[in-house]
Amino acid sequence: MTKFSVSIQTSASRDPVTGLLDRQSILEALTPENGQGVRLGAALIVDINRFSSVNHQMGYSSGDTILRTVALRLQSRLRGTDQIARIGSDEFAIVLGGQVDVHVATEVAGRLLAAVAAPMRLGDDEVFMTANIGLAMPEATDKVPDDILRRAAAALSRTKAGGPNRYQVALPEDRAPSGERLKIEAALRRAFEHRELEVHYQPEFDLDTGKVVAAEALVRWQHPDHGLMSAWQFIGIAEDTGLVDRLGTWVLGEALDQAVSWGPDAPTIRVNLSASQLSDDTVVIDLRNALAHHSIDPARVCLEVTESQLLHDLDESASMLQRLKNLGVRLAVDDFGTGFSSLTHLQRLPVDVLKIDKSFIDGIGSDAGDTAIVTSMIKLGASLGLEVVAEGIERQDQVDLLLTMGCTRGQGFYLAKPMPAEAFRSMLV
Ligand code: C2E
Ligand code: MG
Ligand code: MG
Repeated sequence: MTKFSVSIQTSASRDPVTGLLDRQSILEALTPENGQGVRLGAALIVDINRFSSVNHQMGYSSGDTILRTVALRLQSRLRGTDQIARIGSDEFAIVLGGQVDVHVATEVAGRLLAAVAAPMRLGDDEVFMTANIGLAMPEATDKVPDDILRRAAAALSRTKAGGPNRYQVALPEDRAPSGERLKIEAALRRAFEHRELEVHYQPEFDLDTGKVVAAEALVRWQHPDHGLMSAWQFIGIAEDTGLVDRLGTWVLGEALDQAVSWGPDAPTIRVNLSASQLSDDTVVIDLRNALAHHSIDPARVCLEVTESQLLHDLDESASMLQRLKNLGVRLAVDDFGTGFSSLTHLQRLPVDVLKIDKSFIDGIGSDAGDTAIVTSMIKLGASLGLEVVAEGIERQDQVDLLLTMGCTRGQGFYLAKPMPAEAFRSMLV
């Protein structure tokens, strides 16, 4: 069943910083099973957390030292039949050769995590790094060596959402993605260089006065073949490929640029955060940098986090939100109602805004259950002193009902669709 074997690469090209194989060479070390080399047992991708922020704060030579230390530590935990490569700025790929079952492979993953987590000396400083690992076992559906690494990468992006120091084994749904998805993935990597991404702004209104009170930044992709793509069409792929962090940093910068241009008394700018951004301190550093570079009152900036992201690890979420909040920004729970959070959960989180999910707003007036739920969400928000916003308003009767229920903030296609920056700016004058 296993199709690949691991062979020793002698004349392979190497990564100049660590001396390890590079991405191409490790793929070449995986050859179709032909009697040479040892059978491929498992593939792991090790991702160092917060590497880019350490690199920025302590300098590139410290960054290189960390990479070399990690490389040595990982290598020392492997056997002669295993191979290791550096495949990205802070990513290593490891293939285990020989008879390896999933228990052995996860044991290796645990040892590798511990090896990275041991304190590291950097001159006079002691630094603590952590990693996440995605792990995949060979499968009959793997057609080319890249397939198993891609499944390991999919497992990695899922485990990162759960916080540092964890590994995860690839799931059946991580198997070779469709051709279309692969094409979009490759094109998305290029989209940054080709400046194909843009940010649109959807106004949020005071339902009573009709005044624009906020704008939500929503990323769009001007795809050369598919035209303008909405966030929901590619955010999932960006998350799976790890591109969502870079995307998030870029959207934040763009959105703040725009918000500054609206003038000091202009609406609040709302920016969405992804789950992986929330699992890493980089977002705090990004936000601090972005606020330092823009003359904007932080209270005019609101970050949106979906309810299900927050519930993943409540303690961790609460402390991460507090660190963001300490920078003076406001925080919103997005898609509220879809994640089954309770009053006690909400009380523990330092949030300012509840955005009631469209699926509940859809049913008000016609569905008694939805009407009751929305009524109680509005009361809950008021009792906690939170601002409550209705998402996805598509009809006038919803506006009327929301106002009688005591909700005075709303967003939706009926009021205004997301629009390019210039169009939004002209709404303000
Ligand atoms: P969200 O934050 O809940 O954003 C609202 C989504 O609902 C947007 O879709 C918006 O276009 C759509 N929408 C607003 N009003 C209506 C309405 O009346 N009817 C209908 N049918 N839809 C409405 P979009 O832009 O495709 O975004 C989808 C999701 O992708 C967002 O949900 C957000 O979670 C995520 N997203 C968007 N931009 C970003 C970004 O820059 N970074 C991250 N991490 N996520 C983003
Ligand atoms: Mg949102
Ligand atoms: Mg939402």
